[in-house]
Amino acid sequence: MARVSVFELMRRSEENMGAVNGKVKALVMELIKQAYHEGIEVQITSGYRSAAEQNRLYAQGRTAPGNIVTNARAGQSVHNYGYAVDYVIVSEDGNQAIWSVTDEWRRVAAIAKELGFQWGGDWTSFKDYPHIDIGGLSWQQLASGKRPKVPAVPERNYLGIGDSGGRVEALQKYLNMVGIKCGIDGDYGPATEAAVKEFQRKRALTVDGFYGPGSLAEMNEALDELKAPAPEVKTAAKEEPEVEKEEQYQKDAQPSPRFKEAHEWVTEKKISDGTYPKRPVTREELWAMLYRIHS
Ligand SMILES: [Zn+2]
Repeated sequence: MARVSVFELMRRSEENMGAVNGKVKALVMELIKQAYHEGIEVQITSGYRSAAEQNRLYAQGRTAPGNIVTNARAGQSVHNYGYAVDYVIVSEDGNQAIWSVTDEWRRVAAIAKELGFQWGGDWTSFKDYPHIDIGGLSWQQLASGKRPKVPAVPERNYLGIGDSGGRVEALQKYLNMVGIKCGIDGDYGPATEAAVKEFQRKRALTVDGFYGPGSLAEMNEALDELKAPAPEVKTAAKEEPEVEKEEQYQKDAQPSPRFKEAHEWVTEKKISDGTYPKRPVTREELWAMLYRIHS
């Protein structure tokens, strides 16, 4: 039984949540990924609800068959404003919804709360376990046009499956640079995860497929090893005779005859101390020279 991919959970969730606030959607995607990284498969069952949908739901158990699932009429639910979603845990293969409030269910609620949601399971009057929303405003305030402030997705100290963007693309480039083949598309999919695992195996790290602080430090080391020239194997024949070095030094220490006058002038004007006239100038020296000329 293959584990459902995080991309599939995100795709279904996006479809089910509909027109929720964009920043809420970003937080929900982060929630799905973080849970997935902890071995929990969660998916969103609903999000934005139009007035008609809300009224239909309100009728359930009252004028229509079924159990009562809400006390909110149109306009009285945070769902009607796009600041709430409902979730469910699914089986590992993603094929079955699991509605019991397990430790995994509560863990998802805990992650959601870290991200800035409030959880319906914490309510005292009517516990709504699948429900999370951006709280702070009553439906009356929402109806009057007020909107809650949605927190931004916080930075994580690792990259994992489901992530995308510039940081993932950089990682993929680094992997290729250190000799681990991996497509460069900016998506942390199964191929990138496999490549990270290969890197971790090669560098004797914990093989978890997450690119965290340990892997990052090791990657920097691997890249440094590439930059550093291979240690030179010196042979007696290759070594320059000391006397030749000394001659080169003496040559560098003297100006060419046709620059002799200029050499004397810059030394006298204290633009340079006159040493090593044939060596390249650094930017710092150049600035000092310009400064001395102009001040
Ligand atoms: Zn809800």
